[in-house]
Amino acid sequence: MAKEKHVYLFGDKKAEGRANMKNLLGGKGANLAEMNLIGIPVPPGFTITTEVSTAYNAKGREKTLSMIKKEVEEAVHAVEEMMGTKFGSNENPCLMSVRSGARASMPGMMDTILNLGLNDAAVEGLTKRTGNDRFAWDSYRRFIQMYGDVVMGLKPASKEDSDPFEEIIEVLKEEKTIENDTDLSTDDLKELVKRFKKAVKDNTGKDFPEDPWEQLWGSIISVFDSWNNERAVYYRKLNNIPHEWGTAVNVQAMVFGNMGESSATGVAFTRDAGTGENIFNGEYLINAQGEDVVAGIRTPQQITKEGSLRWAKLANVSEEDRASKFPSLEETMPEVYKELFDTQNKLENHYRDMQDLEFTIQDGKLWLLQTRNGKRTGAAMVKIAIDMLEEGLIDKKTAVMRVEPNKLDELLHPVFDKKAIKDAKDIAKGLPASPGAATGQIVFFADEAEEWKNQGKEVILVRIETSPEDLKGMTAANGILTARGGMTSHAAVVARGMGKCCVSGAGSVKINYKTRSLKVDGLELKEGDWMSLDGSTGYVYADKIKTIEPEMSGNFGELMDLTNQFAKMAVRTNADTPHDSELARNFGAKGIGLCRTEHMFFEGDRIKAMREMILSKNEVGRRKALDKILPMQRKDFEGIFEAMQDLPVTVRLLDPPLHEFVPHEEENQQEMADDMGVSVEEIKKTVEDLSEFNPMLGHRGCRLGNTYPEITEMQARAIIEAALNLKKRGITAIPEIMIPLTGTPEEMKMQEEIVRSTVEAVFAEYNDRVDYLVGTMIEVPRAALVADKIAESAEFFSFGTNDMTQMTYGYSRDDAGKFLPIYLDKNILKNDPFQVLDQEGVGQLMKLGVKLGRKAKKGLKVGICGEHGGEPSSVEFCNSLKFNYVSCSPFRVPIARLAAAQAEIKRKEAKKAKKEAKKAAKKNKKK
Ligand code: ADP
Ligand code: MG
Ligand code: MG
Repeated sequence: MAKEKHVYLFGDKKAEGRANMKNLLGGKGANLAEMNLIGIPVPPGFTITTEVSTAYNAKGREKTLSMIKKEVEEAVHAVEEMMGTKFGSNENPCLMSVRSGARASMPGMMDTILNLGLNDAAVEGLTKRTGNDRFAWDSYRRFIQMYGDVVMGLKPASKEDSDPFEEIIEVLKEEKTIENDTDLSTDDLKELVKRFKKAVKDNTGKDFPEDPWEQLWGSIISVFDSWNNERAVYYRKLNNIPHEWGTAVNVQAMVFGNMGESSATGVAFTRDAGTGENIFNGEYLINAQGEDVVAGIRTPQQITKEGSLRWAKLANVSEEDRASKFPSLEETMPEVYKELFDTQNKLENHYRDMQDLEFTIQDGKLWLLQTRNGKRTGAAMVKIAIDMLEEGLIDKKTAVMRVEPNKLDELLHPVFDKKAIKDAKDIAKGLPASPGAATGQIVFFADEAEEWKNQGKEVILVRIETSPEDLKGMTAANGILTARGGMTSHAAVVARGMGKCCVSGAGSVKINYKTRSLKVDGLELKEGDWMSLDGSTGYVYADKIKTIEPEMSGNFGELMDLTNQFAKMAVRTNADTPHDSELARNFGAKGIGLCRTEHMFFEGDRIKAMREMILSKNEVGRRKALDKILPMQRKDFEGIFEAMQDLPVTVRLLDPPLHEFVPHEEENQQEMADDMGVSVEEIKKTVEDLSEFNPMLGHRGCRLGNTYPEITEMQARAIIEAALNLKKRGITAIPEIMIPLTGTPEEMKMQEEIVRSTVEAVFAEYNDRVDYLVGTMIEVPRAALVADKIAESAEFFSFGTNDMTQMTYGYSRDDAGKFLPIYLDKNILKNDPFQVLDQEGVGQLMKLGVKLGRKAKKGLKVGICGEHGGEPSSVEFCNSLKFNYVSCSPFRVPIARLAAAQAEIKRKEAKKAKKEAKKAAKKNKKK
């Protein structure tokens, strides 16, 4: 067997890896290799594969290190050659960074260590070689800080405390009465190194390691460990990234942005990640290193002049101040800027997607350190896909595949009412870091944001700056406000990735974590006070501001039109009112897949008629009550059919247990007794008789219609009369009458007969006809098993996957809250089966149901109307079973349309690949 390769080298425009090796090398490693291959300057280094990370999780430290030791040593030597420096040398040290990098980007979730290889002797060597002692000692103190935190575990003591190293810096700054980190002298930095080392020793009992190899192995292991840190685990859950994947480790020669005024570091985006606009943008800092730009410690400057002018306007900075204190890279280093601009163009054209890149300028020379497909808001995702299609960078299929269906949700969120926002008084202004409208109560700590949210509160997370530890709180919050940090700060980048409203760098907001309050221009706000954020303008308000529904227009509309060219399944909606029907129609719904009739029995006087029907002792009494309900139902259907004219409307007959309708309060019982002329005792007794031990499995669904046929008769009549009345007005209604909860063919047959004979009677009365269908829900597992027999009396099937999931698992949906979260936590279940269709189990029943049904009735129309109808992976599954349609709530219609298009594209591509593989195999055989 060939020896396994664990380490892949890159540098000097050569590389052993490439972009399509993300699974093995992680995204960062694969792209570092690729950038070398396309001639972009990247410091040399090597990638330790994700396989080693998985091996480490199984075998532990010693075995893993012995497995890779030789390869790593060889790779380090190769890097030394390319750099002309030596790892572990005191005179000419080769310094390294050790960086994590998973298959899918997990920004900031895992650890990185810079300037590795420094020690008390090497720092002197570095000083001599560069003639820059301040730089050498700044690098050294940063190294101890990062290594101390990541490898040796020196962290803040509690959430109100700051980082122990930052505290030491603060103390020294106070002693020396200086304000900025950049004002620290070389001697100050030397002093910091001393104090840092002492803190490490005091807190961990261990000396800071001087041996570079020990530093290197320790860092590599820590990066592997960081795969399992709490925030990384949480991020993976949030983004559905498998825990088995593991991370690669990139070890790379350092380039220095902190070497003085002709050095800098920055991050940039080839397009605007918030709005999707095609403008190069980003931020940089002179004489800085690594994370300084995103950490929000110093105010970063804009890369382009245009961006800088925009920023100054937003931040209220005068042109004089901007030009002197915060000039753009375009102005300070025009040559390097031009090279960076060309590089970003090259990268975007190469990857054909918006890139998020990291760069460092060392002494006037540009180096790229990372490129990846940039995270973006839902709006940006849609705009970039459509723009790139129009620019000819990608084709239609790619444009459709580029947008994550669930991301469209953000475009459907409410926005501030234009008038309300105009009338509101802003209290501060920050940067419009991530668009959206957010209102909520102020919370200062991430864990509390989560607690409050769990208590059902709406919160705004307010932080001086955010860090990866705050991820959970950011998820829980409606919006995020930070006092520090720019457009590429952690808060901004993460919020855009989540599609969450964020205002960053609102400098006038002074936050005090200890008193849990903030001050802005004399106004004080406390934890729990209300606040609103406008992520599109950067304005902060101390009010609750009214929001309204958004519209589907522009790029969004274009994308939706594109989906029609690919999707095979239609998307319908679940709607019970004309308003919802219209809303869904505007979102492109091609009919109603589920119109529940029960809500129609609750409103106003109707509930009384309904109760009268239920409480009646006999058929005569029931019919009397049903006669009162009939005109109301007919009117409801007329409204819905009109809103959905020319499109099919599936109406489900009464489904829930009758007990849900009866009066439970004494007062209401008395009222019914008076109305019906019976004693309240009698009413009470009937209510008691109706109560069931397990109503979900009780007297409901078609069991109602088969025990009280007059209910089915009334509903069938109301539906058909409504359709005929509309026909008179020249409006076409296409009713599809759906029988719920069928479990046996006999149940279905009996319902079908009642419906058809009623309908025929109505046709005779009107002396007119309309087209209609009679079908059933398939939700009782038994129905799927005998679907061929049921299909004999059904013209369509609609899978009711809520009940079907409930009955297949034996989980009561109303009680599952007690154990589902624990099951998910313990990985007994991968997903909540009520949200994501269980293809393995419930899916088998669906597959069988479709197969049997269509065997008995060729071309049987099949759909789904459970919650799953709007969930992308479930939509894909339905497409694979050749469903005619999926149906979901109005706001999920666009999501389902996109998912349906993507599902069909994927299905066709898989089919094509299979065919080609077969052909190739055949050809091989012939040879
Ligand atoms: P993350 O995945 O959290 O972005 P990175 O591994 O990209 O972490 O590194 C963090 C920061 O350190 C980035 O700003 C990156 O550009 C910088 N950095 C990493 N390696 C080097 C290096 N070899 N030389 C200079 N800067 C580096
Ligand atoms: Mg990075
Ligand atoms: Mg049901």
